[in-house]
Amino acid sequence: MKYSNTLEFAKEQDRKDPLKKFRKKFLFPKHNGREALYFTGNSLGLQPAGVLKNLKTELDDWARYAVEGHFDAKNPWYSYHEMFAKPLAKLMGAKPAEVVAMNQLTVNLHLMMVSFYRPTPSRYKILCESNAFPSDQYALQTQAQVHGFNAKDALIEIAPRKGENLVRKEDILKAIEDNANELALVIIGGVNYLTGQVIDMPGIVEAGHKAGAYVGYDLAHAAGNIELKLHDWNVDFAVWCTYKYLNSGPGAVAGAFIHEKHIKNTKLPRFGGWWGYDKDTRFLMKHDFVPMQTAEGWQLSNAPVLSMAAHKAALDVFMEAGGMAPLRKKSLLLTGYLEYIVAGWNTKLKGRKIKLEIITPQNSAERGCQLSIIAHGMGRDFYNTLTKNGVFCDWRNPNVIRFAPVPLYNSFEDVWRLGQAVEKILKISN
Ligand SMILES: *Cc1c(COP(=O)(O)O)cnc(C)c1O
Repeated sequence: MKYSNTLEFAKEQDRKDPLKKFRKKFLFPKHNGREALYFTGNSLGLQPAGVLKNLKTELDDWARYAVEGHFDAKNPWYSYHEMFAKPLAKLMGAKPAEVVAMNQLTVNLHLMMVSFYRPTPSRYKILCESNAFPSDQYALQTQAQVHGFNAKDALIEIAPRKGENLVRKEDILKAIEDNANELALVIIGGVNYLTGQVIDMPGIVEAGHKAGAYVGYDLAHAAGNIELKLHDWNVDFAVWCTYKYLNSGPGAVAGAFIHEKHIKNTKLPRFGGWWGYDKDTRFLMKHDFVPMQTAEGWQLSNAPVLSMAAHKAALDVFMEAGGMAPLRKKSLLLTGYLEYIVAGWNTKLKGRKIKLEIITPQNSAERGCQLSIIAHGMGRDFYNTLTKNGVFCDWRNPNVIRFAPVPLYNSFEDVWRLGQAVEKILKISN
């Protein structure tokens, strides 16, 4: 598309946007009486307008039925989580039996590692990114320690090469090959939280399996952002949170994927709980654990219905929009527009000591909607001033600023207005 840095152009794109009606289904924070420029859907997605109604339904049913709500509520709480199998399967590229909404991301990562990190004295290494999200790093380190290994020795961390910002796929593949005899598990972010880089998920699965390791993904920044085909890619397991691009609210219920080839394997070690028990006989309250032969077999506790009511409202919007394919189509255009606007800043900044360098891959197949930008020659003040001007974005020390134009609710006009706000702050407006 040929972009243009004018309000007319932006408005014209919004008029033509087949997803434009979805913006109204979200609640925007206000700045000086108008909708703020919200570019932090990568951190906390906006509240879908349907959340309040869904919550009210559950609160009313709780008041009306009390304990009988488990079976008599409009959406019986006993099986509440089952409503998520279909929409999650669609978003994750999975079969309904392979996905489950449960717990939170880091908890699910640990639960998956109970099953899929089965180290032996000779095969115990975990390959991950050096710039993985801290929570993931802590999970991996402590899992290695629980099994009696030294975390420094057990973790193989793949870093970008000196002077580069992105991890190279060939470096990941080489590390897998070089450690083939000792590698137990590969676990990587499908979309890196810091750089917005999408890694080649099927390629790494293939290499990991060839080396004799399990391969899992953390999809915190991928779920609801890019198209996924977890089943076809033969991923062993994946976990995600739902408060980022999936708009399900702070600390919302998370999700997990376990490939079909593993779900019926009742011999896989796991941590058990009553909600993972075969549901036909669950209430016989038998002594010995018999897991369900779906991803639900990894559930521990009964469903957190109030948190799930928000998740339901959020996923309904995704289903109404037609899943990830149409969203991704818009996302490519919208993030492309932001990239174009950023290039315009740099043209106008020529000769100055400041520069905004996009570190997210240029190739749109290797990124989602987020652009991560190094603000050369600027400090946190730049971010603070943006915030004061009603722009929501985020800052990672020392100098990375991240903007995520989200196709469900951001518009081309939002991106254009962001451009204007930055130009004013940097004193480069015409
Ligand atoms: C957001 C995020 C988390 C957060 O973990 P919680 O358990 O939801 O608090 C973990 N890992 C990655 C990669 C993230 O982006």
